[in-house]
Amino acid sequence: MRAAVYHGARDIRIEELPVPVPGPCDLLLEVRSAGICGTDALEWDCGPILTPMDRPHPASGHRGPTIPGHEFGGRVVDLGREVEGFGAGDLVACVAGISCGACAPCLAGTSNFCDSYFTLGIDGHGGLARYVVASSAACLEVGRLGLDDDGAALVQPMSVALHALRQGNLRPGDTAVVLGAGGVGAFLVYAAARLGADVLAVDLDPARLAVAEALGAAVLRAEPDSSPASGVVGSTADPVDAVYEVTGAPEALAASLEMVRPRGRVVRVGLGPHPVPIDMRRITLGEIRLVGTRAQVFEADFADAASLIASRQGGWSDVAPIALPLDRLVPDGLLPMAEGRPERIKTLVDPWATAVRPATGTGAGSIDRVSPSLERVIAE
Ligand SMILES: [Zn+2]
Ligand SMILES: [Zn+2]
Repeated sequence: MRAAVYHGARDIRIEELPVPVPGPCDLLLEVRSAGICGTDALEWDCGPILTPMDRPHPASGHRGPTIPGHEFGGRVVDLGREVEGFGAGDLVACVAGISCGACAPCLAGTSNFCDSYFTLGIDGHGGLARYVVASSAACLEVGRLGLDDDGAALVQPMSVALHALRQGNLRPGDTAVVLGAGGVGAFLVYAAARLGADVLAVDLDPARLAVAEALGAAVLRAEPDSSPASGVVGSTADPVDAVYEVTGAPEALAASLEMVRPRGRVVRVGLGPHPVPIDMRRITLGEIRLVGTRAQVFEADFADAASLIASRQGGWSDVAPIALPLDRLVPDGLLPMAEGRPERIKTLVDPWATAVRPATGTGAGSIDRVSPSLERVIAE
């Protein structure tokens, strides 16, 4: 099968590999669409940072070279003998983060802290290939929601955004600011607006802001050399209930603490490369909740993320307009992202395509309400 294979910094090769064989609890998926994100671009540009190359990963047993891609769905073409609940031809979305289901963190409902956690596309082969093997416990059938191949590939990044959203305890009617409207930020904007929050998206890039507006936010263009706090404070009547800081920039965290109300929440989503000094006086005297967020919890977040992707009337072609063939992955996908000039919010790759193709309608708009469990969990 054709696959993109990561060998190290600036070294991804398109190779022919054998089609993988599913284990007893696995699905073999034919991948028609897979997304890439900043993690992939950083790993290609500066890695290996996360990919195990020198010794096998303790949980997955895998060592590089590695097929990247942790945002993917696919059609089931083969099943392990112990798999239940899936059939050949099903369209599934995969969470990519694999957990054991039996350790203390898993039993406590925090499988993102599983003792033997690993991620397909980083610690094992991922979805930037014509076929991938994935644990059936990490897959959700999404054809019933009306999603298609490109829509299935958007569920994983939406689940990351939804998990982050929940860390801020956002309720309908709350005001929220999202700093950084690319990638996870765009999905966050949609999820927050869909749940009835009053969302203001802040970004430097007018094209991203136009999409954020279409996703349901009011928008504010940040000035490159000044703190976003002054603009936000000037444009909202009151300090906001929750700030989602997605850029990872040190000054954006400081700005978040300035714009949030007393007892409000700041969720730091962006990672940033270095430790950041913060004004603890603001946090202490304002009783501000500053919280982190890590990946997603499959059981809690994934089905709701799929519902959110399916709920958007008109689809996602402004967020993810095209799918690249594998041989354009580096020049048209990873390289522009690594250079800080991404040409679209979400880049998809179709391992079967021989030329760039438009993204499909993603099957979205097929359900007009988000699932009741989503509304309930957010409202709690
Ligand atoms: Zn990612
Ligand atoms: Zn576990």
